Amino acid sequence: MLMESSSLFRNKISFLSFLVFLLVLSSPCKFIQSPMDFGPLNLLQTTKTASLDFGRIYFNTPLAVLRPESAKEISLLLKLVSASSFSRVITVAARGAGHSINGQAQALNGIVVEMDSLPSSIEIHKSRGLGDYSYVDVSGGTMWIDLLEDTLKEGLAPRSWTDYLYLTIGGTLSNAGISGQTFKYGPQISNVLQLDVVTGTGDLVTCSPTKSPDLFYAVLGGLGQFGIITSARILVQEAPTKVKWVRAFYDDFEKFTRDQELLITTMADKVDYVEGFIVLNEQSIQSSSIAFSPNLTSIIPQLFPSGSSPQIYYCIEFAIHDHPNKHSTLDQVVEEMSKKMSFIPSHIYSVEVSYLYFLNRVKVEEMNLREHGLWDVSHPWLNMFVPKSGIAKFKDLLLETISSNAFEGPILIYPILRDKWNSDASAVLPGPGEERVVYIVGMLRSANPTRCSTICLNDLLTENRKITQTASDPIIGIRAKQYLPHYSSEEHWQDHFGEHQWRRLVRRKTEYDPLNVLAPGQKIFTRRSPKEKLRPNVRSQ
Ligand code: FAD
Repeated sequence: MLMESSSLFRNKISFLSFLVFLLVLSSPCKFIQSPMDFGPLNLLQTTKTASLDFGRIYFNTPLAVLRPESAKEISLLLKLVSASSFSRVITVAARGAGHSINGQAQALNGIVVEMDSLPSSIEIHKSRGLGDYSYVDVSGGTMWIDLLEDTLKEGLAPRSWTDYLYLTIGGTLSNAGISGQTFKYGPQISNVLQLDVVTGTGDLVTCSPTKSPDLFYAVLGGLGQFGIITSARILVQEAPTKVKWVRAFYDDFEKFTRDQELLITTMADKVDYVEGFIVLNEQSIQSSSIAFSPNLTSIIPQLFPSGSSPQIYYCIEFAIHDHPNKHSTLDQVVEEMSKKMSFIPSHIYSVEVSYLYFLNRVKVEEMNLREHGLWDVSHPWLNMFVPKSGIAKFKDLLLETISSNAFEGPILIYPILRDKWNSDASAVLPGPGEERVVYIVGMLRSANPTRCSTICLNDLLTENRKITQTASDPIIGIRAKQYLPHYSSEEHWQDHFGEHQWRRLVRRKTEYDPLNVLAPGQKIFTRRSPKEKLRPNVRSQ
């Protein structure tokens, strides 16, 4: 029997035979008759990337890696892992592009499923008229940049984006997927029509708002807890050819947020993208403007005249799409809009770029950082959703806590609208529910190794914890919640989800991944053996 399986080794070191052998010996389920049942499954020795992510803070080494060529292989793996008492400690993490910060796609002593090995399939369906949507079926391990390039060839593109496109479909849909279009179309998870999922028990399920809707919504924003997304059906629309990309500067936070809210509400039909960022110093505008650079030379001397005292600015970044059927020119639209805004007079700048360049703008920043050896460094990032009522207090907390001179990286602040989010999905927004506007604040700093050692990195992480704790303290009343959350105690997770959503999460986990096999790097649930299966999936309540 084992002789037959030796052909599986080929050039790679296969751990599967060993694993299967132990599984066969110990499995209470005798459906496993021969290791050849797992013919296509080939577990590999761990790779360097399997224990690495963009954060470079956690490095958990798995036991093995699977590079699946089909959803069936993932299903087989999960069936095996959940059927055997031997494998009670083995967990499974899907790894998309590994662009998490805190080890979310890692699996200490478990199995990492590298999703980029799934054949990248992108099938475009063009609307045939009224009542028929244009959509694309795309595999879960495909990167958004590849999806964009393919759909653009048909004059189409997804509606909702992330700022950076070298992330996978499955990776962003497991969180939410937000950017400057979120106010208009909702997060990426609000733009999905159907999913193919392999649940924690290895079941292959096609789900949608009408077919297994509970699983569909559980998976969207579900932090990888309920199933591995192998394919997604995503809404697309006609793509603009070019984009007017505008930046307007403020020295007053209240005016800055008021104008952002004006753009996403009253002017929502004119504008297609709204973000914003804090300009802490000259360096921070320089580093966030590589892609916007044609105008940079004129902006910096105006904002920071030589010899002036340090000053903090706020910048609104918005964009307008050009479509052949638009009646006004892009310049006319910007002029009309800017009359209603309160930026520092004459501090408005714009560039006209292709849609692809605009959406892929962070790649330009990446290339620049790579050139300076500053991409593959630790990233103690913190992202928080802050209700409108707490945003001014949150900004003060942030500026009091960080050292603005030493802060390396952008601080993004922009509003989104709660009613574009589906509350059935697993993603969490902070209350109170009646506040329509919620801000996302992204503190995206890098720990430059030439200036920031291990001690310094720990100090930055301590600062992040202080911000998180203060901003979620009910007495202080900011009521913020983390986006891309990271906690290590169940108590914090319960707080994060709130009572109702925590109960729903536990119920869904019990249903779709009762042994807590999936996404251990999120540190929400602890792996259980089949014997423990009947116990409710809650440690304490
Ligand atoms: P991974 O890091 O590989 O995985 C993340 C989690 O999802 C893990 O728990 C993993 O197990 C799970 N997972 C991965 N694939 C699947 C799958 N197919 N099925 C089920 N679970 C899966 N986010 C935004 O919303 N907006 C932004 O603008 C934005 N910009 C970013 C810019 C940069 C430079 C970086 C590094 C990150 C950014 N992010 C942004 C965060 C990013 O969306 C998340 O970290 C996302 O999870 C990364 O996708 P990934 O493919 O790298 O996922």
